[in-house]
Amino acid sequence: MLLYNSATRKKDTFVPRFEGKVSMYTCGPTVYHFAHIGNLRTYIMEDVLDKYFRYAGYDVTRVMNITDVGHLTSDADTGEDKMLKGARRENKTVLQIAQYYTDAFFEDCRKLNIRRPDIVQPATGCIDEYIHIIQTLLEKGYAYEAGGNVYFDTSKLEKYYVFNDFKEEDLEVGVREGVDADDNKKNRADFVLWFTKSKFDSQELKWDSPWGVGYPGWHIECSGISMKYLGEYLDIHCGGIDNAFPHHTNEIAQSEAYVGHEWCNNWFHVLHLNTTGGKMSKSKGEFLTVSLLEEKGYDPMVYRLFCLQSHYRKSLVFSWENMDNAKVAYDKLIARIAALKTAEGEEIDSEAYAKLREGFVTALDNDLNTSLAVTALYDVLKFKTNAATKLALLADFDRVLSLNLIDAAEKLRAADKKDEADGAPAQGSDDPFVKEILELIEKRRDAKKNKDYAEADRIRAYLADKGVTLVDTKDGTTFKIEG
Ligand code: AMP
Ligand code: ZN
Repeated sequence: MLLYNSATRKKDTFVPRFEGKVSMYTCGPTVYHFAHIGNLRTYIMEDVLDKYFRYAGYDVTRVMNITDVGHLTSDADTGEDKMLKGARRENKTVLQIAQYYTDAFFEDCRKLNIRRPDIVQPATGCIDEYIHIIQTLLEKGYAYEAGGNVYFDTSKLEKYYVFNDFKEEDLEVGVREGVDADDNKKNRADFVLWFTKSKFDSQELKWDSPWGVGYPGWHIECSGISMKYLGEYLDIHCGGIDNAFPHHTNEIAQSEAYVGHEWCNNWFHVLHLNTTGGKMSKSKGEFLTVSLLEEKGYDPMVYRLFCLQSHYRKSLVFSWENMDNAKVAYDKLIARIAALKTAEGEEIDSEAYAKLREGFVTALDNDLNTSLAVTALYDVLKFKTNAATKLALLADFDRVLSLNLIDAAEKLRAADKKDEADGAPAQGSDDPFVKEILELIEKRRDAKKNKDYAEADRIRAYLADKGVTLVDTKDGTTFKIEG
């Protein structure tokens, strides 16, 4: 499998360190608010990667942290702790906020068919591990104490900016938001490993440490949690692109200084979901959630399909129009699957199965091209083979895409049966694709009445193109969806 690696800035052949096994780490959510659908784009694409590794036969161990301490309002470790800000906003304790939004996050994941990582670890549960790493870094000369805090000394590294796209000037970001530069730092790129002194002294959760009562920096939690569960070597580390700098850059600095060798071979970054007004962001306060999509009548699977239709290394623009298009596409897809009817004793056509599966695998093997993997679904529907083969392939692909294809189609079929029994028109008349067909049949009837045979033929050809055959009988026109 070829996978783009932010560390080498090219598509590399993915080779895990130990044959057949993949260790995978994912930066988890900062649980001071609901996840927005931008955050969830990142988790959907990471979920596809996780599932594709499993599909390809790897034994995957995936670990995710929950950031419940240390992530300050600026990524450059200045400002107030985001958790404390959230707690204050809602008049709750930090732990209450953390629990509430962690549960909400996994509920969103459930709705979007995002598999829960094998290990989920809140950052507040590994304080001893961070202290141990920081102590070692101090002993090895990679860290120093200043003004009550412990800092990582970036000047001790041969190479700090591993994702070469970032330059020292980028660190201006940390000083931008009306926050003074930290005079304790020896070098501008240095970052805090342990805080005991901060301008924001009301930190609720604090722990004893060799450097005084305080709390860990944000970056150390991911190094600590990853190494605790996955050891000194990591095959792949994932996150949204904003995590690349400074978060992942700092993780690499401290982890490699600690273990004394290279740590993680592959870096997988998902580009952002933007609105037409710019990046979607939690700190702006107003953002789109899965619940809001549901309230507006969109099945979460529609959002998942919307994400899969584009490549993870391209930024994606959210609009309601785009969501409507995804909804039409999803409904049509399910209606076409629901229309597949297997005959008694129908057997899988193994030649067709292998050929179509190859198309799917080729798409995902090329840097997780989910958009082509979705096209592979349509290739199955179009292919001249029996329904049993098609259904088996769709179920197989859905182990990775997780679009509820088979369940949703079965539900639609059951609803149709009920409608038929109730005397209502069959074939999923609630379904937009079927609705469109019925409307076009009406239009064609009118066209024929008006002797506009060209228009009637145009409608027939248009529908044939979409796999719909019209059957004219003496009682009117019925239709068949290909498959
Ligand atoms: P946070 O909860 O802020 O720690 O972010 C959780 C995950 O969402 C991280 O991997 C971020 O990089 C990612 N993320 C943040 N904003 C966006 C966005 N607009 N689009 C996609 N991913 C994002
Ligand atoms: Zn992280």
